[in-house]
Amino acid sequence: MVIVFDMDDVLVDLIEPWVQELNSKYGTHVSWNDITQWDMKIAFPTLTWEQIFSVLYEPEFWDKVQPYKEALEYLPKFYKKHKIYIATAAHTKTIDAKINRCLYKHFPFLTEDNIIMIRDKSLLCCDWIIDDNPENLLLSPGQTICIDKPWNRSYENRKQTYYEYRVNNLKDVYNIIEGGE
Ligand SMILES: [Mg+2]
Repeated sequence: MVIVFDMDDVLVDLIEPWVQELNSKYGTHVSWNDITQWDMKIAFPTLTWEQIFSVLYEPEFWDKVQPYKEALEYLPKFYKKHKIYIATAAHTKTIDAKINRCLYKHFPFLTEDNIIMIRDKSLLCCDWIIDDNPENLLLSPGQTICIDKPWNRSYENRKQTYYEYRVNNLKDVYNIIEGGE
């Protein structure tokens, strides 16, 4: 099978260090639980878009982005059995550090053959796609799994339209796709 995984907040915890970095840089007091909308500016009303995204452009920032323990355990299991792709809508200013200082560091079995930089993920032919952004799942030709996050819970009442399953982590994803261990 071909399985497509989103990177940010599916394999690695981006939002927590991002929020911490913004708090320490700009003196705000936001917690990752406060991010309940896709629009980060709603949680950081005093900051500009440029300020919010500028921290991601610093290569050192990606050293602080850590993988989820379930991703560390289960992505290799998927890799051994299937064709897997990491599809990310990364900005050209972040892609080098994001891939080399974060993705390859934590998932060293991945290579360029596994990485797709793309915004419109509905173009990807796949059997399954896993993402925390329901908009990326809406038109996918594959079966769809949404990773539960505070910022996508407002979509839950539109489940079945945007995605088929909502789960917490890659262990749950594995149980759905493989039917358990
Ligand atoms: Mg994501």
